[in-house]
Amino acid sequence: MDHMTKEAIRYLGYGKHAVDDKTFALVEDSFRDLEDAAGRKSIYRIFDLQQTADDRFTIGTVEMQSRNLGRYLGGCCRIILFGATLGTAVDRMLARLSITDMAKAVVMQSCAAAMLEEYCDECQAEIAGRVSEEGLFLRPRFSPGYGDFDIRYQAPLMQMLDCAKTIGLTMTDSYMMTPTKSVTAVIGASRTEEKCHIKGCEACEKKDCTYRRDKV
Ligand code: SF4
Repeated sequence: MDHMTKEAIRYLGYGKHAVDDKTFALVEDSFRDLEDAAGRKSIYRIFDLQQTADDRFTIGTVEMQSRNLGRYLGGCCRIILFGATLGTAVDRMLARLSITDMAKAVVMQSCAAAMLEEYCDECQAEIAGRVSEEGLFLRPRFSPGYGDFDIRYQAPLMQMLDCAKTIGLTMTDSYMMTPTKSVTAVIGASRTEEKCHIKGCEACEKKDCTYRRDKV
């Protein structure tokens, strides 16, 4: 079983318990449909990072304030703004299924979330390759809405990436993204290698790391 399938099953709440054959068949079927429908797109831009206080920093012309993000960005000199989406066809398929086949719709929600995560990891690996040429190392992704990094920062992030034009990603007044299976995030880049876990600080064994994004 590949990592993406394992994650989808975990999102469905099976934990360490074996998934039944019927659900497993639905998972495989959902991934096949998603492969056909998903129009994966992503965008990123690299900025210099100016940190003016422990919890304040400037990206481009935008000032941001967050204690969690400030700690996570410690030692970083650059910051990457990142956006990715699976596209509108996935939303249409999910909407259709929620009327015709609710059981599959639930499974497909988890599969789409796992596929988006996997795609973001692939994009991040590509960015890591590019910035390594400049002697930079990436931290895990950090999205608005995580910890005390206010969800309202999603708006300037999306503007700076020109997400509507570049990847067809927009946002409602209540910060819901359209297409729904989309991500915006910042990624810190430092000159010292922390050997970050691709799945983020929660999955990382360095419990005493100064930059943990989940420290309170
Ligand atoms: S806890 Fe691990 S993943 Fe998080 S910043 Fe530290 S080294 Fe990187």
